[in-house]
Amino acid sequence: MTDGVRLVMLGRQGAGKGTQAVRLAQHFVVPHISTGDMLRAAVAAGTEFGLKAKSVMDAGGLVSDDIMVGIVDERLNESDTTARGYILDGFPRTEAQGAALAEITSERPLQVVVNLEVPEDVVLERITKRRVCESCGSIYSVDAPPKNGWICDVDGGKVVQRDDDEEGAVRKRLDLYAAETLPLVPFYERAGLLVDVDGIGTADEVFTRLLAAIEARIGG
Ligand code: AMP
Repeated sequence: MTDGVRLVMLGRQGAGKGTQAVRLAQHFVVPHISTGDMLRAAVAAGTEFGLKAKSVMDAGGLVSDDIMVGIVDERLNESDTTARGYILDGFPRTEAQGAALAEITSERPLQVVVNLEVPEDVVLERITKRRVCESCGSIYSVDAPPKNGWICDVDGGKVVQRDDDEEGAVRKRLDLYAAETLPLVPFYERAGLLVDVDGIGTADEVFTRLLAAIEARIGG
């Protein structure tokens, strides 16, 4: 088995972060930790917290830093992540979350932060075409649908458009990304952890590029 990795994925909505994070998690045999998926699971479970999170998410806003830091702190202290690492997708999303993550990981520091770069006009088109499995989160698109209607190839779940992939919410999320999340790029550059990867191309092409960049950095 390969060594694990402690890796953060940055990239605007629709850059292909989720798809590539799943592949990287399989490659390095570490958990894929998506804060968006964790929040959607809370929404699906119908908890009080889930209901509150849903209204923020549907409007394209951000759940508060305190709550998100608590969720991630707990997850990164579970034995699977402390043993082999993780692919962290969707966190940090603000500089405050980045600072909190540095504390959470002080004993086992991050090894690499990938910035998956795709221009805004390209991601807008991708997101409005994106469809996801309601139960397992597998990602499809109007251009690359499941094999049998809108039924997930992986677990037979219903494949739908996310409420927050509607155009108004998408624009708000892209603006928030520019204002809140983009400052993390120079933040991680200063820390010597950042690698930029071009996210244009097929999923296979981008994966090959990603792996080469990551292995060059961590010595794979
Ligand atoms: P994603 O699937 O990563 O696009 O996340 C979907 C939504 O969940 C976001 O638009 C936010 O409302 C919320 N969310 C996910 N991760 C975070 C985070 N780290 N901080 C704040 N809100 C988050």
